[in-house]
Amino acid sequence: LLEINDLCKTYGKGDNKLEVLKNISFSIEKGEVCVLLGPSGSGKSTLLNIIGGIDSADSGLISINGDMTKNMTEKELTIYRRKHLGYVFQMYNLIPNLTLKENIEVGEYLGENPLEINELIDVLGLTNHQNKVPNQLSGGQQQRTAIGRAIIKNPDILLCDEPTGALDYKTSKAILKLLEDVNKKYNTTIIMVTHNDAIKNMADRIIKLKDGEIRKNYLNSNKVTADELEW
Ligand code: ATP
Ligand code: MG
Repeated sequence: LLEINDLCKTYGKGDNKLEVLKNISFSIEKGEVCVLLGPSGSGKSTLLNIIGGIDSADSGLISINGDMTKNMTEKELTIYRRKHLGYVFQMYNLIPNLTLKENIEVGEYLGENPLEINELIDVLGLTNHQNKVPNQLSGGQQQRTAIGRAIIKNPDILLCDEPTGALDYKTSKAILKLLEDVNKKYNTTIIMVTHNDAIKNMADRIIKLKDGEIRKNYLNSNKVTADELEW
């Protein structure tokens, strides 16, 4: 599904030059849950943003289902993002004056074959809240809404950058359980950045970054469900 080949990225010039990603290569199969681990500053968000077509690499190749981002025009990149990707960040970035359901509908318009919205809202556990606006919702409910907005278009890959970073541990666990349910129900491929080591237990694949290099990349055969997570 996703192939990354020899990706490099530097920021700055001369003495300020910083190599953030060094010859990154890996691939991910359809339906995998991949967790990216690594210390602060190791390049996780940069990698996710480049996969997401939000930032660009200096060299190397990325392809999703054969669509290569290299040499794409801005317009082609926009189509690539809409066609292939959903995004969830630490901040929910919901539109404050729209209801929960309307916020999810924003994502619906981006997809050619969107998921059925009422069913999705049910999977999200938000049926009783759908007419509320964001400031009437808890953090966990807002993140569920943001996940709904990202996945309703049924993207090939859901990119999550510290999706539980702003939540307490119990709510975090519920959000991970939701992502697990979404992965199972819709076979959504998920790439998730996290600082939380416990999350690695529910991943199919674990990639560890340090100083912009991949230090480890392995399939996690001892996968546990979110219900069994300890942390
Ligand atoms: P964290 O866990 O703290 O979120 P991270 O692994 O996501 O860290 P990145 O955000 O990818 O790290 O940043 C990697 C390095 O690149 C850091 O040293 C950061 O300061 C630098 N960096 C990121 N974005 C830029 C930018 N736009 N300009 C210059 N340097 C940047
Ligand atoms: Mg980051």
